[in-house]
Amino acid sequence: MSNTQTENNYPATGELAPAQAGTLLLKNVRPYGEGEPLDVLITDGVITEIGTEETSADREVDGQGGVLLPGLVDMHVHLREPGREDTETIATGSAAAARGGFTAVFTMANTQPVMDQPVIAESVWFKGQNINLCDVHPVGSITKGLQGKEITEIGMMARSEAKVRMFSDDGKCVDNPLIMRRAIEYARGMDVLLAQHCEDPRLTEGACAHEGEVAARLGLRGWPRVAEESIVARDAILARDYGSRMHICHASTEGTVELVKWAKDHGIPLTAEVTPHHLLLTDERLESYDGVYRVNPPLREQRDTLALRDALLDGTVDCVATDHAPHGSEEKCCEFEHARPGMLGLETSLAIIAEIFVKPGLADWRFVAKVMSERPAEITRLPDHGRPVAVGEPANLTVVKPGETWTVSGAELASKASNTPYEGMEFDTKVVATILRGRVTCEDGEAAAPRTGA
Ligand SMILES: [Zn+2]
Repeated sequence: MSNTQTENNYPATGELAPAQAGTLLLKNVRPYGEGEPLDVLITDGVITEIGTEETSADREVDGQGGVLLPGLVDMHVHLREPGREDTETIATGSAAAARGGFTAVFTMANTQPVMDQPVIAESVWFKGQNINLCDVHPVGSITKGLQGKEITEIGMMARSEAKVRMFSDDGKCVDNPLIMRRAIEYARGMDVLLAQHCEDPRLTEGACAHEGEVAARLGLRGWPRVAEESIVARDAILARDYGSRMHICHASTEGTVELVKWAKDHGIPLTAEVTPHHLLLTDERLESYDGVYRVNPPLREQRDTLALRDALLDGTVDCVATDHAPHGSEEKCCEFEHARPGMLGLETSLAIIAEIFVKPGLADWRFVAKVMSERPAEITRLPDHGRPVAVGEPANLTVVKPGETWTVSGAELASKASNTPYEGMEFDTKVVATILRGRVTCEDGEAAAPRTGA
């Protein structure tokens, strides 16, 4: 299934590491949290029986009565390789992903060197498959060197061994409208996805905090909502007039929600993601001046978090993406204005989404499957991820246990960095196991060893 051409002319994925041969018995799980616990049999990487009477297999994993979901898909992470292996590598990032319940992630192009050529994207893809803890899809940059001036060889990257399917200058905005128009026209022919980091840089020079009452009180330069919303509006209209799919990275304001709704109401092919931190945290956190809370776009106000929650519930915002952004302690433990923007997300995101939506009864586990697996897999057109938990489907799965209390400790995360904004916070939803094509990548909350190349 994985190497066939998908619908339209979208590139299929590059060659995948082989499925785990043999049988795996996943015991004591509740698909989507519904019904009584049962056992699931996986054979050669495919679900072959749900509610099996089988008692022996080559390997057994105890699901501890947890909720069985399709493996999570994250459209937006930064694994820092190549260039900043001191903060994260494809191996440590893949382990963090497995512990977080993810079976596929998209790693952004702002590496050193920038992922603007097939050879760099291919090296990331092959490393990810060799490690085989998570499918790591490289995101190609839209412009060479993220300079915003010259469009990259999008077609060559799409046709490379990595089969790059998403392009973004994330970290920077493609702010020149003519360049964005040309990229959209170019991408349309290949049906690849363009993802925009919406930030008009002329409105955010020197800014490090949401422009509002808190920033004013703390003496921090503000990043106004209009810097995001003006680009969202412009790109929605470009997508309308030049007919290409566009994706909005890390939507952070109430106004962005209104604009995405407008675009969807008008049939414009625009999708959007929201991060767990923009759903949970507000700029009140900045009172501590702790650089761990610096992020781009910045933490905003409660009315924004509430609008984003409603938008995720009603489908205006399509999915959750972590924007997992590891940084070294010297880049975070400094004056707030000088801290590098970004925070870890892979190992805490599922717990946060459960905390906000499932625990208070606003949504069920099918909703979590939709916004953290099915929609991101549909938007990026991954054929084998985000599939139903059903016989005949690829065994890309995660088991999550509600009621299992744990305390976040940056030092204990699989990620090489420790810049989590949730240090010391207690959550009571934990990933028990993750399975990638029948291979157990996380068991009892711990990541498996990489296959090779760590
Ligand atoms: Zn970004």
